[in-house]
Amino acid sequence: MNKQIILEGKTIAYELERKSVKNINIRIRADGSIHVSANRYVSGRTIEQFLLEKSDWILKALSRMETKKEAELYEHFGEQEIRGVIENICREVYPYFREKGIPYPVVKFRKMVSCWGNCRPKQGILTFNLNLRYAALECVRYVVCHEFTHFLQANHSPAFYKELEKVCPEWKPLRMQLRDVPLKKTAK
Ligand SMILES: [Zn+2]
Repeated sequence: MNKQIILEGKTIAYELERKSVKNINIRIRADGSIHVSANRYVSGRTIEQFLLEKSDWILKALSRMETKKEAELYEHFGEQEIRGVIENICREVYPYFREKGIPYPVVKFRKMVSCWGNCRPKQGILTFNLNLRYAALECVRYVVCHEFTHFLQANHSPAFYKELEKVCPEWKPLRMQLRDVPLKKTAK
């Protein structure tokens, strides 16, 4: 059942489900929709009272999600700018790979929906997703290091991560951070 309530002057829509829960439960989903469940003996008024009491918590949770959504699509770099940024990082990390006998790669750019980058070791080609412009500089650097490392290790084996760590010691938190940038949503 779809319902509405006004919390601190804001109209908030929520879905009410009657089921055998103890009292009243509120769940705010990742998309910002509010789901309330209550058993059939709890009156509509009690539910509204409960939501009013929780209004501070509800509104804070909603605004946190709003901020996160915006952050996810924040443009860190312009469409052209990101190419230069990636090329610079390539030049910066290359010396390590030159020592290992890797020739300087052909660097290509594309908009992709399934990955941030791609390495074709035999052809000596690195391809980077232009939507990396929605990622922070340190995350872009992680992707460049990651793809470069594939010249040394084809798969994501323990040996791969050992190599990656030498050029990008903080790869783990950066990979986590990059997961917050929605790859599919950016690909327009
Ligand atoms: Zn990889």
